[in-house]
Amino acid sequence: MEKKDIDWGSIGFGYMPTDYSYVSNYRDGEWDEGTLTPDHTVTLSECAGILHYCQEVFEGLKAYTTKSGDIVCFRPDLNAERMYDSAKRICMPPFPVDRFIDAVKQVVKANAAWVPPFGSGAALYIRPVMFATGVVIGVKPATEYQFRIFVTPVGPYYSGGVKPVALKVSEYDRAAPHGTGNIKAGLNYAMSLYPSVEAHEQGFADNMFLDPATRTYVEESGGANFLFVTSDHKVVYPKSSTDSILPSITRRSLVHIARDMGYDYEHRPVRFDEISNFTECGMCGTAAVISPVGKVVNTDGTEIVFGDGMEKAGPVLTALRTQLTEIQTGVLEGPEGWVVKIC
Ligand SMILES: *Cc1c(COP(=O)(O)O)cnc(C)c1O
Repeated sequence: MEKKDIDWGSIGFGYMPTDYSYVSNYRDGEWDEGTLTPDHTVTLSECAGILHYCQEVFEGLKAYTTKSGDIVCFRPDLNAERMYDSAKRICMPPFPVDRFIDAVKQVVKANAAWVPPFGSGAALYIRPVMFATGVVIGVKPATEYQFRIFVTPVGPYYSGGVKPVALKVSEYDRAAPHGTGNIKAGLNYAMSLYPSVEAHEQGFADNMFLDPATRTYVEESGGANFLFVTSDHKVVYPKSSTDSILPSITRRSLVHIARDMGYDYEHRPVRFDEISNFTECGMCGTAAVISPVGKVVNTDGTEIVFGDGMEKAGPVLTALRTQLTEIQTGVLEGPEGWVVKIC
């Protein structure tokens, strides 16, 4: 198989159609057998449920080439389970977990020429998405859906080395208490676009959202979970009393690794007014693994600076990041089942 002629180091994070997508449709109460398709467009009724009542959920994971030349992906079972839970929460028929994993394997294999080589820092981004195609005009769940996976090569998140970012505390909330903040649905992102654009315009990388009920506790950023580290190297990550944090697979994996490496860890509500006691802060997600946070600026302009601030990432998060990246790329052996070989 010959790789596509692409300058892998400079592709950035954009959409590039590849050879195949995977598609399966739900009709008459069941999912069809599913197939690969070279057609990267979707044709919908103007009355499709997705367009009116926003029944849509998605996932994001990556395939990449390991040191030994295998094409692998990372813990796709957790993406499958999370999408299953997301779908149920907004009354969509969940796509079976085993079929999700099989579909990921099929579509990555069919696009093997688009998987960046080992060492490039680039990866093949995999975007499963599911949405209501059936017509609805009265408010109710649709009866027809499409499950689709497209893939697109993405460049290294950090090309000039890992750099700390600055965040602002948002005056807006990302999700309602006991709403849909804990599922991966596009509707949560629609809510966060306005504060996200505002943060970018003001020179911040992202927002820190506080708990929507009391605005006392730290929740997460627009698309990543937080990890904090204490001065005695304990890893602390926020628990939401309103169930409005999305369970990040990267964060769960990092906490697991932290435990294996002998760090103490704690999952508990984290008050905003205590974060100045932490020496490190990072945002975790598939895109960047960990983005170190150098400082957080509160709504009144006061600044909280972690460790060396905007200079460099702290030692514990750097160690965790290196460990996870090396497991993902097959340099180190990780826990059983984390790295799944595709071809
Ligand atoms: C996807 C997402 C994350 C990160 O999850 P990963 O599984 O680590 O990629 C965190 N927060 C939100 C709101 C998300 O949508």
